[in-house]
Amino acid sequence: MLWVAIIGLVMTVVTVAVAARRVLFLYRLATVGQPAPERVAYLRQNLVPEIKAQLSEVFGQKKLLKWTPSGVAHFFVMWAFIILLTVYIEAYGALIQGMVTGRPNFHIPLIGTWPVLGFLQDFIALAALIGLIAFAVIRIKNAPAKLGRRSRFSGSHLGGAWLILFMIFNVIWTMFLFRGAAVNTGNSPYASGAFVSDAVAQILPTSMVLEEIGLLLHIGVMLVFLIIVVHSKHLHIFTAPLNVLFSRRPDGNGPAQPMRSGGKLLDFEEADPEVDVFGRGTIADTTWKGFLDFYTCTECGRCQSQCPAWNTDKPLSPKMLILDQRDHAFAIAPYLLMGQEERAKQGEDVLALLDKPLVGEDGVIHPDVLWSCTNCGACVEQCPVDIEHIDHILDMRRYQVMIESSFPSEAGVMLKNLENKGNPWGMSEMKRADWIAELDFEVEVVEDKMPADAEYLFWVGCAGALEDRAKRTTKAVAELLHIAGVKFAVLGPMEACTGDPARRLGMEFLFNMLAQQNIETLNEAGVKKIVATCPHCFNTLANEYPQLGGTYEVVHHTQLLSHLVDTGRLVPVTPIEEKITYHDPCFLGRHNKVYAQPRDIMAKVPGIQAQEMHRCKDRGFCCGAGGARMWMEERIGKRINTERVEEALTTDPDTVSTACPFCLVMLGDAINEKKNAGAAKESVEVVDVAQLLIKSVKG
Ligand code: SF4
Ligand code: SF4
Repeated sequence: MLWVAIIGLVMTVVTVAVAARRVLFLYRLATVGQPAPERVAYLRQNLVPEIKAQLSEVFGQKKLLKWTPSGVAHFFVMWAFIILLTVYIEAYGALIQGMVTGRPNFHIPLIGTWPVLGFLQDFIALAALIGLIAFAVIRIKNAPAKLGRRSRFSGSHLGGAWLILFMIFNVIWTMFLFRGAAVNTGNSPYASGAFVSDAVAQILPTSMVLEEIGLLLHIGVMLVFLIIVVHSKHLHIFTAPLNVLFSRRPDGNGPAQPMRSGGKLLDFEEADPEVDVFGRGTIADTTWKGFLDFYTCTECGRCQSQCPAWNTDKPLSPKMLILDQRDHAFAIAPYLLMGQEERAKQGEDVLALLDKPLVGEDGVIHPDVLWSCTNCGACVEQCPVDIEHIDHILDMRRYQVMIESSFPSEAGVMLKNLENKGNPWGMSEMKRADWIAELDFEVEVVEDKMPADAEYLFWVGCAGALEDRAKRTTKAVAELLHIAGVKFAVLGPMEACTGDPARRLGMEFLFNMLAQQNIETLNEAGVKKIVATCPHCFNTLANEYPQLGGTYEVVHHTQLLSHLVDTGRLVPVTPIEEKITYHDPCFLGRHNKVYAQPRDIMAKVPGIQAQEMHRCKDRGFCCGAGGARMWMEERIGKRINTERVEEALTTDPDTVSTACPFCLVMLGDAINEKKNAGAAKESVEVVDVAQLLIKSVKG
């Protein structure tokens, strides 16, 4: 037994040294980037939700279980990694005990002979084995060679994934060999319970040598696996809990993060582009949280499979966005880790690599990739390890817009209009109150202070005030509030764009300007509660203005209207005998988790037959307008709004409903195209949920 123990221990020492060297390298590389003290501060302030996320996402595999077959398989494999640690404690115990006493009959103190532990170990190993078969079938069925771009594994390292499955298989069969042999030699800690090991023992000869070989193989396979893990995408078994711990809650959707340089909030009045970090120009501008995202990506492709840009044949894949940065970081890691002196001695080629732009025709990320993103949040929502793709995209956009002045030219018109007129269309601010004249009741316009009896400020939004189709929603909401007796006022010409399109484009400076102007107006007027019809305004007012000192109680109109219906202040009476399918706006649904209220309103309107599209709620498909895409041409691939409307039409609807002025416009345009092509009924309409409600309430 002595030689077995020596081989086992020497292998272990060498492997641990190699693995530790790699871990040290990964740590040093991650900390080469920008600091992110806000992540640690956030963790301290949100310890309870973060621990809950660990329990549900890491141990409960909540996000993975949404994808049932692969989720269940992963659940068992993940728990096998944890439970089978006890088998490795037994293996090392046997190794040392065998060396000392000559008999490797070690058991874990106290619980080590309990049949239930033996059963659990064998059960989870068997379940993991079945899980491996499921993974293999899923990979074969979804092979990129078969499905091409439609495969979520397209672009992933396929060989590496198969190697990992093979290594897990090796861990399991060697475990049963070692334990089966130990049953025969009387060295097994379990008199009963280890049902698979007992069954394997039946077919094995009684042999001490066989037990020793099994023991060495089992330990050896684990050590090889450890080396593979720390050098591959399987690193996520160690980094995923950390990434989940340092992620934002409930996820990386909702508010865009403010700009930071060297870990401090960027003050635009003092900032110097020569000294400060403006977004991300090279990989070295990435924070350690960004590097942690790179290390944690499992290449599962769930993000890619949900991305509206990828699904309409654009070059953006959120998975590849992360992997391309990761590969670049690893490729130049030796140079990134050099000290200044050593770096200075390098040739031009090395310096060029270090300065390689993150975005550009010859950059790590192609500009078409960067500008294809609608900020819909589907990638962030689906990622099982909480990678925050939008944070990466926004930081890269910030550098492109503010330092390089490089962005789709059409968006420049929108920026100018925002700067000069306070709305993306460049219309006069006096037109913001025109819709009021079309109502048959008075609407109070704030002149200085909120009227004393007004409960809500109705934030109308640029589209709601200036775009004809969205104005119908505005009028419907105003009328419903009036009928329900909810007192409200509007800012009229004093309202300016919240700054959302500027921020999502990457023009943080302009966002700050508009936001501060609005916050000043709101604070001076004494506004406490806001209702907004636009999910982009809603998200900005509720989640982003607090970053600049503007804190209000903000609701979306569907939340308020649903409450008014529930409490009997609005009573839908007239039936609407129509088949209606509801489209989830991304900034209402995924970014703010408002899925139920619009549906609740529709459920209360008599006659409506609601039917869900295949992609709905947290898997809803974008209309194509978010991320400032509303103001950019869509030149590559299929139009996203066309794809969405085609899906809506598969439900044969009389009406498509939604709860966002941008979705209203995008889906409306696509439906009109379909009508012109004879591919949709002339009568199909796109309306806001509020329009349905007012129709039923008024009769
Ligand atoms: S936010 Fe939406 S469009 Fe952008 S990468 Fe993620 S899934 Fe794709
Ligand atoms: S980013 Fe997340 S969802 Fe996308 S491939 Fe990586 S682990 Fe999977």
